[in-house]
Amino acid sequence: MGKGGEVRIIKSRMNELFQLALIDDKMGLTEYSHIKYELIFKYSTKYRVRRPEGFKVWVCRKCKYSIIPNGGSIRLRRSALIVKCGKCGYIRRYKINHSSMVSALNSTL
Ligand SMILES: [Zn+2]
Repeated sequence: MGKGGEVRIIKSRMNELFQLALIDDKMGLTEYSHIKYELIFKYSTKYRVRRPEGFKVWVCRKCKYSIIPNGGSIRLRRSALIVKCGKCGYIRRYKINHSSMVSALNSTL
C-alpha cells in the first residue's frame, strides 16, 4: 500500500476515535476519553497527520484530558479564546480571527 493510503486510514481512524471519545465525555467517562485523546495525539505525531477538527480546543495540549468535562473553561475575550484545563491548570490563548477555531468550537460544544 502507498503512503497516501496509509495516511488516509490513520486519518479516518483518528476521526473515529475522536467521535468515540466525545461520546465518552458526554457520559462523563473522562478516563476513557483521555486514553483515546492520547492515542490520537500519538498517531498525529508519529504519522504527521493533522488532528481532527476541534481536538485543539477540546483537549488539553499538556495532559490530554478534555477541557470542559474536567471542570475547565473556554472563554471568549475580545480578541482571544482562552482555554483553561481543569485537570492540570494549563492555560492557552488563541487568536479569535482563526475561523477554523470558531467552526471547531461549534462542532464540539
Ligand atoms: Zn491539562
